[in-house]
Amino acid sequence: MIDIKELSLLAKKAEASSKHLFRKHKKIVEKLDDHVAVLHEKYTAQYDCLACGNCCRSLGPFLTDRDIDKIAKALHLKPSAVVEKYIRIDEDGDYVFKTMPCPFLMPDNYCQIYENRPKACKEYPHTDRKKFYQITNLSIKNSHVCPIVYEVLEDLKKELK
Ligand code: SF4
Ligand code: SF4
Repeated sequence: MIDIKELSLLAKKAEASSKHLFRKHKKIVEKLDDHVAVLHEKYTAQYDCLACGNCCRSLGPFLTDRDIDKIAKALHLKPSAVVEKYIRIDEDGDYVFKTMPCPFLMPDNYCQIYENRPKACKEYPHTDRKKFYQITNLSIKNSHVCPIVYEVLEDLKKELK
């Protein structure tokens, strides 16, 4: 198990070799979806997100109009009130939360709007998706935040070496 306090340093050290290996073995990585799925199961079983909460503290999800409608419904507010209170447009023109840690992260790491959380939150950390080779660069970034991603990438690299 990775200590979350050490993750950033470990991920930084591993970054160059990850990029190199995934680029060099792109064709092999394209065929590794089944293996990534096994690693996803292995590490999501090992890590307790409620004991971590690192993604909700440090990464903001992109929000779609549908996400905003669902949050509004969960909070019994109008979508315009949700936008005014919680949302800003970032430098790329995307809707994101005004503040991080996420305004819906509770002190016990539960999500206040869990049943209606944004799609990007549901899909994070993206280690269970098909065509994983398409998101190796994103996953390298995520490995600085999420120990599950870090572990999956390190195991994949062992396979490729
Ligand atoms: S909406 Fe919920 S799952 Fe998404 S970042 Fe906030 S606390 Fe985390
Ligand atoms: S950073 Fe990863 S392990 Fe931590 S709460 Fe998020 S998904 Fe779970």
